[in-house]
Amino acid sequence: MSTAEDGAPKRVGLRQLPRLVRVALRIAWTAGRADLLFSTALQFVGGVSIVALLLLARGALESLLDAVSRGGSMADVLPWILGMSAVAAAQFFASTVQRERQQILGDLVTRYVQGRVLDVTAQVDLATFDEPEFHNRVERINASNHQALQMVYGVSGLAGAAFGAIGALVAVVAVAPVLLPLLALVIAPAWLAASRRGAAFWDFFWKMTPRDRQRQYLAGVLRERNAAKEVRAFGLAGYLRGRYDDLYTYRITELRRISRRQVYISLTANLVIGAVLAATLLLVAWLALRGTVTIASAGIAVAGIAVVGGRLASAGWSVGALTESARYVDDYLAFTALLPEVERTRPTGAAPRGFHRLAVSDVVFTYPTGEEPALRGVSLEVSTGEVVALVGENGSGKTTLAKLLAGLYQPASGTIAWDGTDVSTVDPDQLRRQVAVIFQDFERFHLTVRENIGLGRVEAVDDIDGVRAAATHAGADRFVESLADGYATMLGPEFAGADDPDEPTGRRGTDLSVGQWQRIALARAFYRGAPFVILDEPTAALDPRAEQELFDTIRTLLDGRTVLFISHRFSSVRSADRIYVLDEGRVVESGSHAELMAAEGLYAELFTLQAAAYLDVAIPDSRSP
Ligand code: ADP
Repeated sequence: MSTAEDGAPKRVGLRQLPRLVRVALRIAWTAGRADLLFSTALQFVGGVSIVALLLLARGALESLLDAVSRGGSMADVLPWILGMSAVAAAQFFASTVQRERQQILGDLVTRYVQGRVLDVTAQVDLATFDEPEFHNRVERINASNHQALQMVYGVSGLAGAAFGAIGALVAVVAVAPVLLPLLALVIAPAWLAASRRGAAFWDFFWKMTPRDRQRQYLAGVLRERNAAKEVRAFGLAGYLRGRYDDLYTYRITELRRISRRQVYISLTANLVIGAVLAATLLLVAWLALRGTVTIASAGIAVAGIAVVGGRLASAGWSVGALTESARYVDDYLAFTALLPEVERTRPTGAAPRGFHRLAVSDVVFTYPTGEEPALRGVSLEVSTGEVVALVGENGSGKTTLAKLLAGLYQPASGTIAWDGTDVSTVDPDQLRRQVAVIFQDFERFHLTVRENIGLGRVEAVDDIDGVRAAATHAGADRFVESLADGYATMLGPEFAGADDPDEPTGRRGTDLSVGQWQRIALARAFYRGAPFVILDEPTAALDPRAEQELFDTIRTLLDGRTVLFISHRFSSVRSADRIYVLDEGRVVESGSHAELMAAEGLYAELFTLQAAAYLDVAIPDSRSP
C-alpha cells in the first residue's frame, strides 16, 4: 500500500469547514458524550450570564440615576447589585466546572484519536513502515491530537460568542441601530489575521515534522536503556546532543521568523479593530450630546459596544482558528481512511491449513525504499516435514525471503504457493497463523517470561503448562525456574514488579543474556504450534553445545512440522534435508550438503572457509592463478 504524498501541506477551504466541524463533533461525541454536552451547556451559561449582567447593570445604573435625582437611598440599588454579584458568582463557578470537564474531555479525545492512529498502524502492511511519509503522518497526528477538540471548542465558543453578542447587540441596537453595521466591521480583520496565522503555522508544522521526528529519535537514543551502553562506550553523548540541539535551534529560528510576521499582522488587525470601536464610541457620544439618546442608554451602549466588539472580534479569531484546526482534522481523516482501504484491499481467501508442498516461483521483490531488488527471481520448494536451510553472504536476501514466506511482504512478481494456492490471495492473518517465525532481531517484550513465550499463541497466553512445555523444548525451562519470580519474572530492568502493575512483587524486572533471550524466542516459536516454522539465525547466540543439541533434536521437537532456517553456521546447516544458497538475491545452488560439496561451488567455498578457520589450516586462494 502506498501512502506517498507530494510532501506539500494540504489546504483546507472554507467550504470544507462544515464537513470537518461535523467530523470534529463526531470525534468528541464518540470520545466523551456526557462531558461534551455538559461543557457545552456550561458555555451557554456563560453566554447567558453576560446578557443577564448587562441587563442588571442597566437596571442598576437607571435606579442609581433615579435615586440621585430623587434623593433615594442605597436600598434602591441594592437588589440590582446583589443580583449582579449572584450572576457573576454563578458565571465564575460555571466556568470553573467547565474547565475541569474540558480537561477530561481533552484526555478522552486524545485517547480516541491516538487509538484510531494505533488501529491504523497495527493494520497496515509491513511495507508501509518502510515509508518515511507514513511516519511523518503518524507524528503529525500524534502531535496535534487536541485539534479536533479545539474545533469543537471553536464552534461552541463561536456559538457562545454569538449568544453573548446577540444579547448585547439587542441592547446596542435598541440605542441606535446605526451602530450595528459599524460594529460588524470588527469581524473581518480578526478573521483575516487568524486565518493567515493558521496557514503559516500549519506550513511550519508540516515542514518541521521530519526534523521533529529525527530530533525525537536522537532524544530516544540518549534516553533509552538499549542505546545507553553504546552511547557511553563510544562517548557519543556530546555528538548526539549537539545534533539534537541543532535541530531544535533550527525549529526555534523558524518559529521566531513566523511568529514575528504574525505579530505585525495581528497588530494591524488590532489597530483596525480599535479604530472601528473608537468610531462607534464617538458616534454614541455624538448621539448623547445631540440628546438623541439618554445618558443611561448611552452608558449601556458604551458597555455593550465593549462587549459586542470583543465578542465579535473573538468570533472572527475563532473562525480563523477553526480553519487552522480543520487542516489537522482533515489530515487525521485522511490517515484514518487508510484503514478501510487496508480492509478493502486485504485478500479474503481462506488460508490452507499447512501444506504438503510449498513452491516459490520466480519471486522478485524490492523494498519500498530500495533502489535494487532484494530478490531477483527466486524459486525453491519445501515439502512438509522437511528441514530446509538458506545460506548465503550478508545482504544476499535470506531474511527478505523469510519475510515473504511468513506473509509479511508480497512479491512484486512471481508467486508463493501452498499446495497450488497462491498465498497472495488468502487472508494474511489466517496465513500467519500457520507460520511461526523468529527473526534475528526478534522482539524482546518488556513483559513477563510467561507472556514472552505465551505471545506465540496469544489466545492461549495464560496456559502456563503449555508455556512451560515450550520452554522445556527450547532449553529455557531451567534458567527460567531459577529466576526470582520464575515465569512471572518481568523481563526488562527498567520496569518494576511482575504481572500486575497494581500489585508489584516489589522485585525489579531483570534482563537475560542474549543466548537466553534467544531460547525464550525459540520457545515462543515452538509454543505457536504452527505447521511451518521459520527461524532466522535461531542459534547465533547459543553456545556450541546448545546449538548442537538444538539441531540434533529439532526433528523430534518439531515433529511433522516443516522448518526453514537461516544460519551462518555450517555445522548446523549440513544436517538440513536441502540447502538453498543465495547470492545477490538469486538462488545459485541447491541440494544436500554432500551434493553441494561435490559441486564445488559457492557453498563448498564458504563451507571450506569456515571449516579451515576452525581447524586453522591454510586454504588455497581459489582466485590466485
Ligand atoms: P540477508 O538476510 O541475506 O543478510 P537481507 O534479506 O536482510 O539479507 O537483505 C537483502 C537486501 O535488501 C540487502 O541489500 C539490504 O540492504 C536490503 N534491505 C533489507 N531490508 C531493507 C529495507 N527495509 N529497506 C530497503 N532495503 C532493505
